[in-house]
Amino acid sequence: MPKPNPRHPNFPIPGGPELRAKGWRQEALLRLLENVLSVGEDPDNLVVYAALGKAARNWPSHRAIVKTLMEMDEDQTLVIQSGKPVGLLKTHAKAPLVIMANCNIVGQWAKAEVFYELQREGLICWGGLTAGAWQYIGSQGVIQGTYEIFMRIAERRFGSDLSGRFVLTAGLGGMGGAQPLAGRMAGAAILCVDIDPERARKRQQVGYLQEIAPDLNTALAMVDAAVKEKRALSVGLVGNAAEIYPEISRRGIVPDVVTDQTSAHDLVYGYVPKGMSLDQVRSLREHGQGQLMAASRASIAEHVKAMLEFQKKGAEVFDNGNLIRTQAREGGVANAFDIPIFTEAYLRPLFARAIGPFRWMALSGEESDIARTDDLLLEMFPDNRIITNWIRLARQHIPFEGLPARIAWLGHGERTALARHVNQLVASGELKGPIAFSRDHLDAGAMAHPNIMTERMKDGSDAIADWPLLDAMLLCSSMADLVVIHSGGGGYAGYMTSCGVTVVADGTKAADERLDHALTNDTSLGVIRYADAGYDESFEEIAAKGIGHVKV
Ligand code: NAD
Repeated sequence: MPKPNPRHPNFPIPGGPELRAKGWRQEALLRLLENVLSVGEDPDNLVVYAALGKAARNWPSHRAIVKTLMEMDEDQTLVIQSGKPVGLLKTHAKAPLVIMANCNIVGQWAKAEVFYELQREGLICWGGLTAGAWQYIGSQGVIQGTYEIFMRIAERRFGSDLSGRFVLTAGLGGMGGAQPLAGRMAGAAILCVDIDPERARKRQQVGYLQEIAPDLNTALAMVDAAVKEKRALSVGLVGNAAEIYPEISRRGIVPDVVTDQTSAHDLVYGYVPKGMSLDQVRSLREHGQGQLMAASRASIAEHVKAMLEFQKKGAEVFDNGNLIRTQAREGGVANAFDIPIFTEAYLRPLFARAIGPFRWMALSGEESDIARTDDLLLEMFPDNRIITNWIRLARQHIPFEGLPARIAWLGHGERTALARHVNQLVASGELKGPIAFSRDHLDAGAMAHPNIMTERMKDGSDAIADWPLLDAMLLCSSMADLVVIHSGGGGYAGYMTSCGVTVVADGTKAADERLDHALTNDTSLGVIRYADAGYDESFEEIAAKGIGHVKV
């Protein structure tokens, strides 16, 4: 039985033992599609997160996808082009059920203006990373990443955690909404600025944000008190980051850590320029895109100048993957890239071992299934401090949104071992239903993004998109259930290519084979990608785990 969804009553949360499709594999993908809308930001318009990240091109496409998933056989493959189903072809039972290519535009044409035009004509849609691939699980999807970044900063600069430290950030949207909880979990007093009061309220409603301050003075006083008492606290403030950041700097206050997760990648539908109301912006989105792009870029320049000022005064400042430095540089801030990207600054040693944001969703809709997988993780990896620390914290702090789900940064071998074990629990009936395994596209072998994932790679291979394309081909050959290639990034075009994958543990022997091949080969390629770029950790991993790397 689907469960009611108080946030979006027309989009119930899927679950229950009854199948509407011909098998669990098809049913699983159908439930994941329903799930990304049930936890999405604007499901009426099929928008899941990041301004325009959509689950399907339009409603007729959505209806056709749902109907096909319900009617298709296991030996068929549904082909989806930028959110629109275009073919249902006879393949075989070990082939992917769904393959997708979303928003891939040929190089010289890959520009924001071309994307907006193609979208207006209804010819394309952007899938974000996990939106179009039906893998989004609410703000939890990025929360461990944000938490791990905060902890790496804490270890390097502030002892063991961020207690007694002031973190300043902005953006409380679909992904940015993870920041207040991640900050609190790391012990910080975190202030999160968002221009849209609705977004702040939503994050408070789902338990990710504690307080909303009525004005800047109150917000700073709340943060100051928490810092002095070394008390973890998250405070939201409705305002424009391009005004609030410079104002905090003008007052001579220097936060300990500064970042931003507004949708700066999108100058039209994402970022809100200072001095403009949300209504003004909405109207310019229709009839003044050029004016809006210029205003957004000018505001982002001021926003980033304030971040650079904080950095000069000693704050730890980083770009959290929203392309804000790129937009600022184009807006005239020549030194915007003095701010480091989080991947290169904090997480690369993990990616070099293909440790990254793995995740799974309980298709039964039962929270007890995730509780069991939490226990299993603690049983299987008792010596892995990242995992055990995370699972204990996640259990305590993270409320479920939509289908109960868990994220955990696991690496090569660990993902496969966990998933195969879970498949046995499904088979034995210890779990109430199948589990779908997936991961963020921001994963070792899965993404080329020279301004986020692959910035400043050791060998200079930042912009080479062969790796995610190889990953997708490999995953199709490895029997994954859903395989997708996405492109986009800033202005939805020209900045990145990524690959996504989902595999369903339905308790069958066939699922065991699929999980084994797909998850092992996915992380193998991740390690190989970093070995190819010359990272020592990858060579260690290859030697320790016998990964099939070909030396040249
Ligand atoms: P979203 O569109 O759901 O939310 C963006 C939020 O920014 C909105 O709440 C909006 O009101 C707010 N905002 C816009 N302009 C503002 C301004 N000037 N001042 C204050 N608030 C403003 O987007 P999201 O899904 O939360 O993603 C945010 C950004 O993070 C995107 O650029 C996305 O691509 C990026 N991202 C990075 C990672 C990563 O791995 N680090 C992961 C996911 C998303």
